[in-house]
Amino acid sequence: MTGAECKNMPSRGIDHDKMLKDTISYAYNYSPFYRWFYNQHNIDVHTIRGFKDYDSLPILRKDDILSFAKTSGIEKLWCIHNYENLKVATTTGSTGKRLKVPFSQTDVYRFIQKPCMNCLCWWGYEGGPINVIRWEHSPNSTVALWLNSIAEITGGKAYLAEDIEKNTLEHVATKNETLTYINLPSLFKFIDSPFHRQIFEKVNLKYIFTLVSPSEVKTRFHVKMKTGLGNINLIPLYGSTEALFVGASCPYAFKDAYVHVTQPGLFHIIDHNGSLCDEGKGELLYTSLGREAFPFIKYSVGDVVTLKKEHSCSCGYSGQRLRFETRNALTVKIQYADGYFIDIVKVVERIREIIPGSQIMCVYGEHPYEHYLFLAIFIGTTKSVPLNERKLKDKIIENIILDHVPSDKINRVGLSNLLTEWHQIFPIFFVSISDIPIEPGANKPKLLLNLMDEEKLLKLSCYQNILSKIEGYCCI
Ligand SMILES: [Zn+2]
Repeated sequence: MTGAECKNMPSRGIDHDKMLKDTISYAYNYSPFYRWFYNQHNIDVHTIRGFKDYDSLPILRKDDILSFAKTSGIEKLWCIHNYENLKVATTTGSTGKRLKVPFSQTDVYRFIQKPCMNCLCWWGYEGGPINVIRWEHSPNSTVALWLNSIAEITGGKAYLAEDIEKNTLEHVATKNETLTYINLPSLFKFIDSPFHRQIFEKVNLKYIFTLVSPSEVKTRFHVKMKTGLGNINLIPLYGSTEALFVGASCPYAFKDAYVHVTQPGLFHIIDHNGSLCDEGKGELLYTSLGREAFPFIKYSVGDVVTLKKEHSCSCGYSGQRLRFETRNALTVKIQYADGYFIDIVKVVERIREIIPGSQIMCVYGEHPYEHYLFLAIFIGTTKSVPLNERKLKDKIIENIILDHVPSDKINRVGLSNLLTEWHQIFPIFFVSISDIPIEPGANKPKLLLNLMDEEKLLKLSCYQNILSKIEGYCCI
């Protein structure tokens, strides 16, 4: 495919049965991991006829892969053993441990370049080279892999924002359109900065891809951001290191931040009753069809999404609509908060509703002398100390209480008493967005640092600054 090809999506009426059957036998034949995994679950892959038997396959979780890799070595996972031809990206591990995922050149074409180019057509792309800008350093992140591959297939150039910021790129070819990925909190900061606006103009920035979180859909934060961007297209997308580029919104689906699925994978959810459905809201299960280096089969991505069937959107697309709703629940137990399990994902969502555009990192640990469990909350905003700091902290704690404590208990003890108690267990710190640390090579900051689970975190230099702020709460 050349960059100039720009038609409506081909129909997704491919033979999923055959592709699924082929994917399963390919995985079984070439990956010792899959052979072990299916033998463990007594699955005879030769009897799998295709989609009819999808239900009988076990759900694959990240922990299955990680524990196998730990005992047998990572080389026993992959289906291609000629590592020189593979690219590797690492998951962000924002809610858990990190996983290395390999891709062949064909995988990059089918699961990044082609689906992404299809989305660009909805936003006015008519062919020609596309330059890309990366705002973070790691060349091994999924975002870097994606952006570089788009420059490569269209014959554009790939730049690091840092170089442009230093003004060392006078030769940036401004006649080419430029594409980038920026998360909404950073974009919020850039929009107010004349310097960044100048860069946007200089590089002829035309497409900004971004992930829109549920609190941002609710507060319409992305819609407000768009109005500040003039002719630059803001495009919500969904993807992950495992599934790569899943799809993006067209202009008609923008407001509700639904993406049209443009890659050849199977997307299902598990509903409340544990049944597999292709519509509704629930935990996402993903099967990559035709992936070479490492196929994911009925894999739990760790996200809750809403799926809908799309018969004919005004952009011409027919297929599946998907919207990211939340990460799977990630809970920690706080004894002093009466032993309630605190859902970190929920806490983060609430704060982002109260302070749109903020970036949150929680730190869970045990007080070294008083031995109570605490959850410190760091809130990165564009202004490091908001004017009404005390009021905001009260509002946040109040919301955490209301989300987690039964109402009869609140009535009995009194909200104001609970507030005083919980402020100590949930210390809140306002910091600048740029002070929220990202581990080397990761795309996103972790939502949760669990100091009791991962003691080595204390030694990572990127966390020193943030942990020094809770010195009284941990021994560093
Ligand atoms: Zn559409």
